[in-house]
Amino acid sequence: MSASVPVRSLWAATAAPGTEFEPLTHEVRAQVVVVGAGYTGLSAALHLGGARDVVVLEASEVGERASGVNGGQVIPGLKHDPDTLEEMFGPVMGPRLVATVAGAADVVFDLIRQHDIACAAIRTGWIQPATSDAALEAIATRVAQWRGRGADVQLLSVPQVTQLTGSQRYSGGWIDRRGGTVQPLSYVRGLARAAQTAGARIFVRSPATRLERIGREWRLSTPGGSVTSPTVILATDAYTDGLVDSLRRTLIPVPSLQVATEPLPSSLRQSVLPEGQSASDTWHLLRYFRLDPCGRLVMGSRGAFGAAPAAVAVRHHYRAVREIYPQLEGIRYEFHWGGLVAMTRDHLPHLHEVAPGVLAGLGYNGRGIAMATVMGRILAQWALGTPSSELSFPVTSLAPIPLHRFNQMGARLAIQGLRAVDGLARLRARFTAAGSVP
Ligand SMILES: Cc1cc2nc3c(=O)[nH]c(=O)nc-3n(C[C@H](O)[C@H](O)[C@H](O)COP(=O)(O)OP(=O)(O)OC[C@H]3O[C@@H](n4cnc5c(N)ncnc54)[C@H](O)[C@@H]3O)c2cc1C
Repeated sequence: MSASVPVRSLWAATAAPGTEFEPLTHEVRAQVVVVGAGYTGLSAALHLGGARDVVVLEASEVGERASGVNGGQVIPGLKHDPDTLEEMFGPVMGPRLVATVAGAADVVFDLIRQHDIACAAIRTGWIQPATSDAALEAIATRVAQWRGRGADVQLLSVPQVTQLTGSQRYSGGWIDRRGGTVQPLSYVRGLARAAQTAGARIFVRSPATRLERIGREWRLSTPGGSVTSPTVILATDAYTDGLVDSLRRTLIPVPSLQVATEPLPSSLRQSVLPEGQSASDTWHLLRYFRLDPCGRLVMGSRGAFGAAPAAVAVRHHYRAVREIYPQLEGIRYEFHWGGLVAMTRDHLPHLHEVAPGVLAGLGYNGRGIAMATVMGRILAQWALGTPSSELSFPVTSLAPIPLHRFNQMGARLAIQGLRAVDGLARLRARFTAAGSVP
């Protein structure tokens, strides 16, 4: 087994303290029970607050999973471009879905403002730097499609992307000024506080271990108690367990690892992301990076880790930082942490009615801060009685991935394959720049 380094999360070290919640220790009734206290579940609970008696069950602590460990990049839009989404979902749902994803970052920043959530939110935009000319061509199409819909986005030339990122490695890119950054753990803790203030009862260290139909209602059991309710919202994303095994098999959980440097000295800080944007590039195994409020560079990418990050994966991330920012050679690293990203086969989030009264929203493919927050709102609207045909996100039937276990192994192999493809492309680019290889 390869050596590992201790987990140290930058966000856990710097977050605003959260509310203390207790485990469930008795039998309760609710009008809606939400499983999972990340952005999806807490946004659902917040949007239901007041209108329904809501209980939230969380297996660990608020924000301990993806919502508290992610890169904090608030990215509007999905992996698919707007024209593609409209083709996929037709003339009614297509434009409605595009409008939903276009406004997803607004929902995050509006909630932060309305509920006074202290989470270092800034909205100076998100950059996607291109790693090749082919990637830049795809970006140009994306920019044209979003501009055609009135979005505040702009294609970036090589000098512009170099200026905004402080890296000379990219072939241009685009900036989406709807995006921004948050301290992700402070954001999810703020949502929990707001949901509780709106009336939700939140129980932590209370995994739902069994879901049973009792007459027209559902009962969720935990080690210490149970909740009976006519409506269940499953908001468990990459951490979906065997509670509803067919739902678990709709996703491939993929690990993503981040590292954070010490605060950059001011001489370097002026050149690295000087205007405060965040960035995720176009490698197959993309690299995402930003500064934290103290000027640490935070960089993440796919990376294996078990209970603790594998040392080899951490070193791989250090190399990636040096490649993007050679000027950071010799900088010290203070933090290493990660979590699981839920990937779906169609690269889209999914909204399902798993059984009558059991709703699920999940599968954000690494773009969940904005989308999970919006999905929570949509789940709340559905639970409050909006017909599924009127929701602003398509409801699809549950489609477990055939041979799921092998798909997970396949994903691991695919990651290694894509790392090799990216590595070769980087080598080729380096030699081409040096004039050695055609
Ligand atoms: C390392 C990393 C970096 C990322 N970076 C970004 C980024 O920069 N920008 C972006 O937009 N997205 C990013 N993402 C994705 C984003 O974090 C997720 O899409 C989002 O947090 C999903 O929120 P959620 O509430 O659906 O799931 P989660 O936050 O994972 O919450 C699900 C919760 O369900 C609980 N749970 C599961 N099963 C049970 C059960 N049986 N009973 C009770 N509770 C249960 C889990 O304990 C967990 O707390 C990143 C993800 C990772 C892991």
